[in-house]
Amino acid sequence: MAKLTFHGGVHPWDGKALSKDKPMKAIVPQGEMVYPLSQHIGAPAVPVVKKGDRVLTGQKIAEAGGFVSAPIYATVSGTVKAIEPRRVVTGDMVNAIIIDNDRLFEEVSYTPNDPEALDKKEIVELIKEAGVVGMGGAGFPTHVKLSPKEPEKIEYVIANCAECEPYLTSDYRRMLEEPEKLVEGLKIILRLFDNAQGILAIEDNKPDCIALLGGLVENEERITVKALKTKYPQGAERQIIYATTGREINSSMLPADAGCVVDNVDTIVAVYHAVKEGRPLMNRIVTVTGDAVRDPRNFYVRIGMNYRDLIEEAGGFKSEPEKVVSGGPMMGFALFDLDVPTTKTASALLCMTRDEVSMMEPGPCINCGRCVEACPGRVVPRRLAVIAEHHDAEAFVANDGMECCECGCCSYVCPAKRQLTQSIKSMRKTVLANRKKQG
Ligand code: SF4
Ligand code: SF4
Repeated sequence: MAKLTFHGGVHPWDGKALSKDKPMKAIVPQGEMVYPLSQHIGAPAVPVVKKGDRVLTGQKIAEAGGFVSAPIYATVSGTVKAIEPRRVVTGDMVNAIIIDNDRLFEEVSYTPNDPEALDKKEIVELIKEAGVVGMGGAGFPTHVKLSPKEPEKIEYVIANCAECEPYLTSDYRRMLEEPEKLVEGLKIILRLFDNAQGILAIEDNKPDCIALLGGLVENEERITVKALKTKYPQGAERQIIYATTGREINSSMLPADAGCVVDNVDTIVAVYHAVKEGRPLMNRIVTVTGDAVRDPRNFYVRIGMNYRDLIEEAGGFKSEPEKVVSGGPMMGFALFDLDVPTTKTASALLCMTRDEVSMMEPGPCINCGRCVEACPGRVVPRRLAVIAEHHDAEAFVANDGMECCECGCCSYVCPAKRQLTQSIKSMRKTVLANRKKQG
């Protein structure tokens, strides 16, 4: 049978062997904790504590600043040291709550629930109150995603278990070590959509997860496991919707317009914690990996911990990294400073001894067409990059520049090493900013 897949894409070396076979390890934070108020799409959270307040693990320290926003919770006990701008992974300074960790880890108590006894409104409210956001990188508040205008038109809830980005193995470990939470979380989401089927969409390079989850949902009428062809960017929203349902969306549509809701593994587990256990979002799994790290592995990290401490937990650097990336090599951010906090959307810390890309000088385009072939967005990257270099926003939009999902495939395959994604990405940013300005 043909494997489920999409147009374009690439097969980069996956580097997953470095960390995939080591079990998740919980880290006990020692130092101060930093909680940026903007770690999600939408309005920044608003502090509900002030300097000098003592807080407990699991206590709300900032409330949602609007409907599209999310509250933030302390992940240690201690004293609020300051509320001030701190640097985050993007290099920006963002207002943050700083907690002096007292290392006592005193915790509030949580109220567990029986999801079967809750109505739809109560489920969404628990998810909202727990501060759950898309943890695959986007950071879009999950309660908003789970509140489409016409919920009866949602036909598929897709658990994005592809984890197609090279080096990342956090979803893999979560699927192997806590598969029941993933299935229970998906069942909770399905309770919101009476006409939907659940799909656990897993790339076929994870046969153990396919077998394990397949066994768990054997008797679940509303959930199936679908094996996807291993290809980057299989886990991008549009690509996974197309591969699993055959439906297409473009940049002006939401997944809900195609009858779909897509959530990643960690997000669905966070929904489980929020609804079943009544626990707010306080932890995530982070892959700390790369050839510059002594002991690459996956950590169960309390949000707010410093990146430098994660490297220490992984045994430190065995050689000086030339490049450190927050996220994976295809879509992550190069870091210039390791003193940044782990946020709700931080999936990985990749430390490489050689920065192969920066060692190569871009040359002229040789019109080979490889970027066009690899592009899952069905655009012409070489043309868009030239338009972007000329800052021609109108031509960029007319040539479907907004259909780019910033996957990086075009730059990856370009023999002339042209920085296609970089140019296209910055033009997209400009167009989006202009649209926002014009209302
Ligand atoms: S143009 Fe965009 S969508 Fe197409 S390959 Fe490049 S980064 Fe990916
Ligand atoms: S892959 Fe590079 S060299 Fe080939 S057409 Fe695209 S931009 Fe030009």
